[in-house]
Amino acid sequence: LVSRENHPQRSTVTVRGVPIGPDTVTLIAGPCAVETPEQTLEAALMAKAAGATLLRGGAYKPRTSPYAFQGLGEKGLRILADVREQTGLPIVTEVVDAHDVALVASYADMLQVGTRNAGNFALLQAVGAAGKPVMLKRGMTATIEEWLMAAEYVAQRGNLDIVLCERGIRTYEPATRNTLDISAVPVVQRLSHLPVIVDPSHSGGRRDLVLPLSRAAVAVGADGLIVDVHPHPEQALCDGPQALVNGDLDDLATVMRDFPPLLGRT
Ligand code: PEP
Repeated sequence: LVSRENHPQRSTVTVRGVPIGPDTVTLIAGPCAVETPEQTLEAALMAKAAGATLLRGGAYKPRTSPYAFQGLGEKGLRILADVREQTGLPIVTEVVDAHDVALVASYADMLQVGTRNAGNFALLQAVGAAGKPVMLKRGMTATIEEWLMAAEYVAQRGNLDIVLCERGIRTYEPATRNTLDISAVPVVQRLSHLPVIVDPSHSGGRRDLVLPLSRAAVAVGADGLIVDVHPHPEQALCDGPQALVNGDLDDLATVMRDFPPLLGRT
């Protein structure tokens, strides 16, 4: 279903009127985690000023440590919905448990499946049946074929509104949090008709790498970027070291402007 063999034209997925696909480069930005209404609104306004047309923000956080902040749950979803109301930005948010899919889908405009759940087939099937566009991150140890098969689980439930997100894979190199597999973008675009975006924040794990990796992603033909921003990263409850701050956002806007979309990328 997700292969290009039977579907030679690359697809565009529309999230509440915002397209992600070969005719544009879509910027999704926002806080890693929803912490407070003020922080989420401030981050959303920063994202919007940098050119973002979709707001990211996690209310359910899949953390490596069970002692780390796990997200605000439904309270976080309500904050996201309020901020959507105030900014007009549709929301992309993660769901980590098949039992929560209906609840998260009742607030979200796009459901995110994160790297840690990219092989959770019950969750993939549940999001496939939820009737909302899905952003499927690559499992940190998944081959491209495994990633596409995960997408196939979503598609099999009748949902082809899937955007794939390369977010770095685990390699032997400890200098970065993950290794951004930039070649995955054109490889997957040849194998699948689905749009492919890049997460330069979770791949590098470092603020100073977000702009160079964003440039690389846009240059290689990614259909969009998903970037963490935070008004006060030193106080962030999750992933502060990778969040862009106000001073960086002009540069991010420049990345989007300096590399004009390779419109009609095939
Ligand atoms: C996220 O985007 O909030 C996230 C946790 O990303 P990943 O699943 O890629 O680690």
